[in-house]
Amino acid sequence: MNDEKVPFLDLVTAHRSLQDEFVDVLKTALSTAGFIGGPMVQGFEQEFAQFCDSKFCIGVGSGTDALRFALIAAGIQPGDTVVTVPNTFIATTEAISQAGASPDFVDIDERTYNMDPGKLRQYLEKDCSWDADAKRVFHKRTGKPVTAVVPVHLYGQIADMDPILDLASQYNLKVIEDACQAHGAEYFSKKEDRWRKAGSMGHASAFSFYPGKNLGALGEAGAITTDDDKLAQTCRLLRDHGQSKKYFHDIEGYNGRLDAIQAGFLRAKLRHLKKWNGQRREIAERYNKLFATVEGDVTLPYQPDWSRSVYHIYAVRVVDRAQLQKKLDEAGIGTGIHYPIALHLAKAYEGLGSRAGDFPVAEKAVSQVLSLPMFPDLTSCQQDRVVTAVLKSLAVISG
Ligand SMILES: *Cc1c(COP(=O)(O)O)cnc(C)c1O
Repeated sequence: MNDEKVPFLDLVTAHRSLQDEFVDVLKTALSTAGFIGGPMVQGFEQEFAQFCDSKFCIGVGSGTDALRFALIAAGIQPGDTVVTVPNTFIATTEAISQAGASPDFVDIDERTYNMDPGKLRQYLEKDCSWDADAKRVFHKRTGKPVTAVVPVHLYGQIADMDPILDLASQYNLKVIEDACQAHGAEYFSKKEDRWRKAGSMGHASAFSFYPGKNLGALGEAGAITTDDDKLAQTCRLLRDHGQSKKYFHDIEGYNGRLDAIQAGFLRAKLRHLKKWNGQRREIAERYNKLFATVEGDVTLPYQPDWSRSVYHIYAVRVVDRAQLQKKLDEAGIGTGIHYPIALHLAKAYEGLGSRAGDFPVAEKAVSQVLSLPMFPDLTSCQQDRVVTAVLKSLAVISG
C-alpha cells in the first residue's frame, strides 16, 4: 500500500470513534429543544475557561466573531489603529477593520514566524509619538491613536509575550491574543517564572473552532477568553444583540452566539484535546528527527525553549517551494500554504499604502513556507511516506 495518498488533513478518522457521543449530544438537543444557549453552552464555556487558565469564556459563532467582539469590548474605537503581523489569516485584520479601526503591521521573527517584539518597539518608538496628556501613542504619519496590539500565535506556537506585554503596558495598548491556532499552547514567562497558557495573557483572547483547528467543531464556532469581568460581560452582550434580558437592548450588538449543539460536540472533543496535542508534538519531533539529515535544504520549525507548541501546522521552509509542492502532489502527498501572501500586499489592503519590501521577513517567509500533513491520527507509516517523498523531491530538485 506504499502508493496510497497521504492527505494534508484527515477529519474523517478523527471523528469516527466519537460518533456515539455526538449522537447523544444531538438527542439531548432534540429532546430539550435546546439549540441556542443553555447548559451545553455554559458547560463548555466553563470547561474551556479552565483549560485555558482563564476566568471567563464566552462562546461565539466563529473565531472572527471572537476577535471582533474582543476588540470592541476592549474599547477599540472607530479611527484607532491596531497593530498585528502581515502573515496571518485575513480574519485577524478583518476583525480590526470591523471594529472600526485600521490594521497596521510590524514584521515577524525570522525563526518563529511570530511578531518580533523588537520591531514592535521600533514601531512604537520611531513611527509613533507618546502623548502624555492623552496617555496614548499616535502614529506620526496618520495622526491616528494606536490602541491595541494583536499578536497571532501562528501554527500553534505562542508569540514572545513577555516583551509584547511590557511594551503594551508602557504604551497603554490593549493586547488581544489571536489564539485561533493555539488551543493549549504554552509560553514560559521569565517575568512570572511560570508556564502560561494561550488565551490567558492578553486582556482578551480569541479562539476559533473551525473544523480543522486543534479543537474543531462540526461546523462554525469560536470563543473569547478573558480574566476581565466587565470585558466578558460586554462580549456576552455583543454576541446576542446587546440584550441584557430578552428584548431589552443595552447596546447594539450582533448575532454571534455559539450554537448549543456545537458546544456539546466541543465538550466531547475537549476531553481529548490534551492527548491530541501530545500526538501532534510527537509527530513534529519525529519529522524533525527524520529531516535532520537535510537541514540546510529544509528549514524546520523552530521552537524556542520558552515555547511548547501545539503544532496546528507543521511548516517547513524551502527556497523552491513551487517545485517541492508540485513533486509532493505528484507523489500523492497533500500540502498547504499558510499563507501564500502577506496581507499588506493583498488586494483588499491596497488602500493602506504598503509596498513590497515594507515587511521583508514576512514577505520572504510567505514565499517559502510549506505545510506538511499534520493531524493526531497521522500514522508513522504515512509520516514515513511524507518524509521519503520530501527527500526524493529535494534530491531531484537539487539535481
Ligand atoms: C482560523 C483563524 C481565524 C478565524 O477563525 P474562524 O473561526 O474561521 O472565523 C482567525 N485567525 C487565525 C490566525 C486563524 O487561523
